[in-house]
Amino acid sequence: MRVLGIETSCDETAAAVVENGIKILGNKVASQVDIHSRYGGVVPEVASRQHLLSIVPVLKECLRDASLTMEQIDALAVTCGPGLAGSLLVGVNFAKSIAMAAGKPLIGINHLEGHIYANWLTPGQTPRFPALALIVSGGHTDLVLMRDHGDYQLIGRTRDDAAGEAFDKAARLLNLGYPGGPVIEKAAKSGKVTLKLPKGIIPGSFDFSFSGLKTALYRLAETGQVASPNDAAASFQEAVVKILVKRTLAAAEEHGVNQILLAGGVAANSRLREKMIEDSPIPVSIPPLSLCTDNAAIIASCGYFHMVKGERSNLDLDVYPSMPFAWVNGLIRNFAR
Ligand code: ATP
Ligand code: MG
Ligand code: FE
Repeated sequence: MRVLGIETSCDETAAAVVENGIKILGNKVASQVDIHSRYGGVVPEVASRQHLLSIVPVLKECLRDASLTMEQIDALAVTCGPGLAGSLLVGVNFAKSIAMAAGKPLIGINHLEGHIYANWLTPGQTPRFPALALIVSGGHTDLVLMRDHGDYQLIGRTRDDAAGEAFDKAARLLNLGYPGGPVIEKAAKSGKVTLKLPKGIIPGSFDFSFSGLKTALYRLAETGQVASPNDAAASFQEAVVKILVKRTLAAAEEHGVNQILLAGGVAANSRLREKMIEDSPIPVSIPPLSLCTDNAAIIASCGYFHMVKGERSNLDLDVYPSMPFAWVNGLIRNFAR
């Protein structure tokens, strides 16, 4: 089954074709990062207008790269939440129009569940269940126990900032630029871990907290204790990575999982990738960088695994800007079967 995925939840306009949930035939991402960087963050109104301009060319280029026509596509999967309402609306309405015009089945996908599926698209590996997914992205930090496709239990989440958000805020504080993750990682490469920062662990749970880290960094900067931005970046990155790895491995042990899955934009961080592998007694699946950040192949892959169970969305599919992860199962009830 060839699924066409459409993703417009934030500031990437993306289309991809994936065969049987695992093989990428075409994968096109148009990033708006240059447009938003001068504002230091994503401007929602600008993002949705840009999606409108990009979506048709992106789909055309994707089909051309895959040497496919619309007739050779079996189904459509589109991100319907969480994300920016105006951005989601472009993708969902575009996908619905194609589904209607071409008479193809459609399914709405939770963007965060999609992130996990980068692990099924990673060449040379098939994740084993039960698995523990660490989803670390711009807006979310979730630990999800996955017993099977579509069978999820949220066992931990951030109480305040998401890991990616923490990187973005720290980068702004240190005047390193935007987006924060990649610039902190780069600066950290020429820095040393010198600053003492809080551990951000919430006792008795698998939840995370990053706002204390950010405040501590702010205080140190304000009182002139940050001599080198590179050292501060290295210290901050190390503190975030330590928290993520420690919580994940504790949860993995408690739940006796066979596999750890990294997902989301922050999973592109090389120090996180390295430390998770180093410290984990359990096999760790790490997707290639381009599949960690937003793209439509993850949405197409996730869509396939729902579709083979007979799940479908109706053409009245809506957008759900603050769709929680727990809705992955709940939302299916809105779908025609
Ligand atoms: P969400 O998935 O929660 O809706 P999003 O789609 O905006 O949010 P992603 O595209 O998955 O988020 O990830 C973007 C985030 O990943 C940004 O916060 C960015 O700073 C972070 N990021 C990207 N590369 C790196 C890196 N090398 N190190 C750390 N963080 C990174
Ligand atoms: Mg983005
Ligand atoms: Fe994302």
